[in-house]
Amino acid sequence: MDTDVLVVGAGPTGMTVANELLLAGVRTVLADRLPERSALSRAGGVQSRTLETLDQRGLLDPLLAAGDYPVGTSHFAGLPLPLPTAPRVDPEPDTAAFRPRQPWRSVPQVDLEAYLEEHLAAQGLRIRRDHELVALRQDEDGVTADFADGRTLRARYLVGADGGHSTVRSLLKDEFPGRPGTLTTVAADVRLSGVEGLATHHRSPDGHWAGIFPLGTDGQGRPLRRLAMGGPGRSLPRDVPVTEAELRDGLRAVFGERVQLLELCHARRITNVARQVASYRHGRVFLAGDAAHVHLPLGAQGMNGGIQDAFNLGWKLGAAVRGWAPDGLLDSYHTERHRAGTLVLRNIQAQGLLMDWAGAGDPDVTATREVFAELAELPDVRRHLGGLMSGTAIRYPMPDTAAHPFLGLSVPDLDVLDLDVPDLDLGPARLYELLRSGRGVLLDPQDALAEAAAPWADRVDRTGWGAATAPLLIRPDGYVCWAGAADAPETLRSALTHWFGAPTGR
Ligand SMILES: Cc1cc2nc3c(=O)[nH]c(=O)nc-3n(C[C@H](O)[C@H](O)[C@H](O)COP(=O)(O)OP(=O)(O)OC[C@H]3O[C@@H](n4cnc5c(N)ncnc54)[C@H](O)[C@@H]3O)c2cc1C
Repeated sequence: MDTDVLVVGAGPTGMTVANELLLAGVRTVLADRLPERSALSRAGGVQSRTLETLDQRGLLDPLLAAGDYPVGTSHFAGLPLPLPTAPRVDPEPDTAAFRPRQPWRSVPQVDLEAYLEEHLAAQGLRIRRDHELVALRQDEDGVTADFADGRTLRARYLVGADGGHSTVRSLLKDEFPGRPGTLTTVAADVRLSGVEGLATHHRSPDGHWAGIFPLGTDGQGRPLRRLAMGGPGRSLPRDVPVTEAELRDGLRAVFGERVQLLELCHARRITNVARQVASYRHGRVFLAGDAAHVHLPLGAQGMNGGIQDAFNLGWKLGAAVRGWAPDGLLDSYHTERHRAGTLVLRNIQAQGLLMDWAGAGDPDVTATREVFAELAELPDVRRHLGGLMSGTAIRYPMPDTAAHPFLGLSVPDLDVLDLDVPDLDLGPARLYELLRSGRGVLLDPQDALAEAAAPWADRVDRTGWGAATAPLLIRPDGYVCWAGAADAPETLRSALTHWFGAPTGR
């Protein structure tokens, strides 16, 4: 083998998988066909769960310190409703102990990619650029990958994180069910005047609409915006260039003379294509990110979903390479992330319909949107939607479904007061800091589970904390996989075996 894992595609998904694999101590090659990082402007919104993920790897504070990334306002189908980014589970257990969730942030994808690439380079992983995968073959022991320039590489596993037009997916001949795009809309990076104090979404009585989101600043510190717009007659073929005149016309249709275009930096047309692969795993080959699902970037869920795929897959592949993955662990990647992807596609398709973005003015759609806007005033509905789109309400199926409300959910952060972790300074710390090792964490507040957990001590760190709450077992990706009573070590052992493999002694 030339390497343990070959990751094809160095977008946000591929770089996150690579980071997880490095953390697990796995030999990794990250290859991309581009000679340099893409400067194409795409994502602008980073969701709560992704920010938590970065925090769980020590990557959030340095990112936020490096740029001006304001807290954004989320939306559903362009409806002007402030979605809570901090959904809680119901009933709320021990809430006093937990820190609030991270709010949605406006971080341009180009900044995030540059940051992740720098972080990987600091750990010695340089992206192999000019490496275009053109063929792959897999056998019992590994995968052989051929690149366009004739180079070949053999790895134990391959991750296809090569985007919406994935070569890996085509080579696997995987089904890509869904539907093609039927409409386009404009997404442009612009400088605007007259937007101060404006809400995010606007619609004119005759069906023209515009969404305006913060997108960081340009080289001279001036605010950039992402402008999305559509309406009657505005769905043009993708290859028709977007012009300044078109943007000015669209702004006028919605805002009159109030909002003016100062500069057009970049623009493209995007479609409402909606597809998801039938299987995220094909033997030793895995699909992640846009390679596995494509849809409109409504509500900032594409890059965020890809990063969550990567975070889910990384530790499992690491466990397989390191030899401790229990049966079914690699398959759980498909089970967990395919379901999560389906929920994203579903809400995006519903949003596309409710937005009536072609401005067709169908009175039934208008009536549905109005009913929906009323529903969205209800706190429970807001909480449901907020959890869905921020990624914090994803609940993975867990073998023991009877227990705690957090079971299967991403754990919120909390202060850990009492550490029992080798090589860490003793003293106050946060749970998310403990997760930075990339290992599992057992919160054992009554200090009663040391003996039960000892045979997994090479894979799971045990710790106590000051708040009185049930003991929780947390996977390396931050999901609660056991919640029980301190006097029930048997169920803990069975959860440890299920997620962390056979006990190996003390
Ligand atoms: C206008 C717009 C706005 C968006 N806004 C948001 C948002 O606010 N929030 C959000 O979450 N998402 C958003 N998205 C979606 C987001 O950009 C994508 O979901 C994200 O880029 C997917 O990341 P990825 O790493 O899976 O794929 P990509 O970013 O596409 O990366 C794939 C990489 O694979 C490489 N590659 C391709 N083929 C090969 C090959 N054969 N061999 C080697 N390398 C290969 C490519 O060069 C590329 O670097 C937006 C998209 C658009 C277009």
